Amino acid sequence: MQFSPNIAELEGSATLAIGTLCKQLRAQGREVLDLSAGEPDFRTPNFAVQGGIAALEQGFTQYAPVAGLPALRAAIAATLSARAGHPVDPAGVVVSVGAKQALFNACFTLFGPGDEVLIPTPYWTSYPEMVKLARAVPVFVPSGEHAGFKISTADLESAATPRTRGLLLNSPGNPSGAVYTRAELEAILAWAERRGVVVISDEIYGRICFSAPRAPGILDLDRALRRSVVLVDGVSKAFAMTGWRIGFSWCDPEIAARMSDLQSHITSGACTPAQYGALAAYQREPRVDAAVNAMVRLFRRRRDHAVTRLQELLGPAAPTAPEGAFFLFVRVDSFYRDDVNDSTAFCRWLLEQEGVALVPGSAFGDDRYVRLSFAAPEAEILEGIERLARAVEALVPTA
Ligand code: PLP
Repeated sequence: MQFSPNIAELEGSATLAIGTLCKQLRAQGREVLDLSAGEPDFRTPNFAVQGGIAALEQGFTQYAPVAGLPALRAAIAATLSARAGHPVDPAGVVVSVGAKQALFNACFTLFGPGDEVLIPTPYWTSYPEMVKLARAVPVFVPSGEHAGFKISTADLESAATPRTRGLLLNSPGNPSGAVYTRAELEAILAWAERRGVVVISDEIYGRICFSAPRAPGILDLDRALRRSVVLVDGVSKAFAMTGWRIGFSWCDPEIAARMSDLQSHITSGACTPAQYGALAAYQREPRVDAAVNAMVRLFRRRRDHAVTRLQELLGPAAPTAPEGAFFLFVRVDSFYRDDVNDSTAFCRWLLEQEGVALVPGSAFGDDRYVRLSFAAPEAEILEGIERLARAVEALVPTA
């Protein structure tokens, strides 16, 4: 079969091979500790569930407007207004099928052939593919552990060319958990403004922050810095609602209208009852915050215990505690050897040897690392870390 050039550059998810192997091993009766999850291991809070159920029972099962239910767009705009300290126009909000569609809408609407889009590494696995689907060129900007996995304006400047049109920024970051400070964001946005670069700010992990109730985001910055910005967020991570598939973008209403037009031909918009569930989550009642805070407290405890144990077992190879999201990005290349010589081979080997599933760093643009998710019960995380340490010990050559 000859495929279209549309997908000529598209790469499948590197995580799939591990996922398939995980399933095969389980089918053979092997016990597998799955520390590869990209979603909270909590149930959706009841208030959101009830919002969805009530919508179904009341027969709200028809198409919603393409850009989302007016009540949901208004509730999202109200949440954003409270953060921004000034009214935010609901016309700039487009509700999408997860933050993923919001990101795709933004890339496809704003970038095209010949455009270069800056992507700091390590990056969330779908960014380069989305840019390539828009027939634009992803340009990687390496960060590095020494810099806390964050890029500076100097890094951006050295990667930029006259064709640079966009920057995909993600804070807190997946897989690094890095959180940019307000001053760092300010500097980056000012650089982008000077350079005429559109910033897509993926703040999907904004509420999962261990140093503040919310990670600094573009709404904390001066309005003048936000003229060419698309904010992306959603209910998936903060409210443990990944399967509901509700995300949103917020930007200039003119861009929002174009993204909505695009969406009208792809998905017609997000699932209607799920939008009612999200509406319940965005209605700023005290119990919403209470549910989110309880989840973040648990993530923090797991993070602390996991990092302490990794430091005890791996010493200098252990990661420092991330400030946000629910991942540890662990450097393992010092353990590579002939047949276990990259992150995919390492993860495959670890799964076969010890029954622990991690995600290869190659999925995030850095083959020296693996991603360990602490969105799993604490006992499983600690057991997984014991097995990881035992496994790498077997890789270290004996003198
Ligand atoms: N952005 C980042 C950084 C993510 O990690 C994810 C999901 O893993 C998404 C966006 C997509 O979120 P959603 O499930 O709402 O589409």
